[in-house]
Amino acid sequence: MPHRITVIPGDGIGPEITRATVRVLEATGVAFNWDYREAGVDAAEKYGSVLPEEVLDSIRVNKTAIKGPITTPRGGGFRSVNVALRKMLDLYACLRPAKSYPGVRSRYQNIDLVIVRENHEDLYAGVEFEKGDPAIATISELTEAAGMGPIREDAGLSLKIISEFRTRRVATFAFEYARKYGRKKVTAVAKDNILKFTDGLFFATARKVAEDYSDIEYQEMLVDNMCMQLVQKPENYDMLLLPNLYGDVLSDLCAGLVGGLGVAPGANLGDEIALFEPVHGSAPKYAGQNKVNPMAMMLSGVLMLRHLGESDAADRMENAIAAVIAEGKSVTYDMKPSPDDPTAVGTSQVADAVIEKIG
Ligand code: NAD
Repeated sequence: MPHRITVIPGDGIGPEITRATVRVLEATGVAFNWDYREAGVDAAEKYGSVLPEEVLDSIRVNKTAIKGPITTPRGGGFRSVNVALRKMLDLYACLRPAKSYPGVRSRYQNIDLVIVRENHEDLYAGVEFEKGDPAIATISELTEAAGMGPIREDAGLSLKIISEFRTRRVATFAFEYARKYGRKKVTAVAKDNILKFTDGLFFATARKVAEDYSDIEYQEMLVDNMCMQLVQKPENYDMLLLPNLYGDVLSDLCAGLVGGLGVAPGANLGDEIALFEPVHGSAPKYAGQNKVNPMAMMLSGVLMLRHLGESDAADRMENAIAAVIAEGKSVTYDMKPSPDDPTAVGTSQVADAVIEKIG
């Protein structure tokens, strides 16, 4: 039976890296039945919504989706389609592996980290009040009554929300992933010495979950120290488990350790649904030029193959990408010693090279 997968090419560079990735996935010999759907600004013109209901329905039925990046216009406009997809499909865990491939230009070698970030709450829950909103004065009365002093009248306010329920399920996801993929250690990262009731709850809940996984080492680390440790001794870490905001920042840091956005894959996962996408955005200035690196999306495709239980195909596809990187010939400008290197190839030529290596 072919795997039925929802494909959202996205916009900007999305369609070209999606085409390259689909070609390589097909070259593994795994049978797919692609269900193409549109979301973003172009979809709004056609369907009257940036995230048409039929896209959500398709993902709910197929359970697995792969998507290219989608532009979020700055200053007003629509709410991010990417964030909406994660919320509406309850994709509560964000998975971002950061792995060094020999040949990638980076200050570090032999890094193999997996970051698991909570996807829904923390300062990203979107519970915010603009300066001058009367709600701030109401909350100020409460903080004053609790002996914490008033909130200044000229302040904006964003609430940090961390719940036991959402921490427990993302922590459980991390430990289950560790078990499934033979990972040895989970390091929870937060700042409970200062944020006692939110980050403190995050640690306490993760610690409790860890008790059920005695085969996996559990460790807690303050986020500031973690940043330093990652720069100095990244090889000491295996999986990191973080609340939303720290997870966002540290996953970019880790992408930087292994060569940048061109090779940083990602996935958003819920109990039943999985959506695979590169970490990077739609890079609109490169759209339609056959120029950018499709490897982050291809590596997201490798994660998808593993999720589908196609581990042999996943290994072959990952090895083929690694071989193209190691050779350093058929790679895009961002993987060359200098971005204006005339030997850099285009997006579709990278796909040709990877397909040739898959054989
Ligand atoms: P971006 O990741 O799109 O691009 C930043 C820069 O990184 C590019 O100019 C380019 O130099 C480089 N880059 C990115 N991807 C590359 C690739 N595959 N190969 C080579 N170089 C690459 O970030 P941005 O400019 O901040 O965001 C552009 C748009 O994308 C925004 O609207 C943003 O909201 C959106 N975005 C979407 C997603 C998503 O769909 N999940 C994620 C991040 C950003």
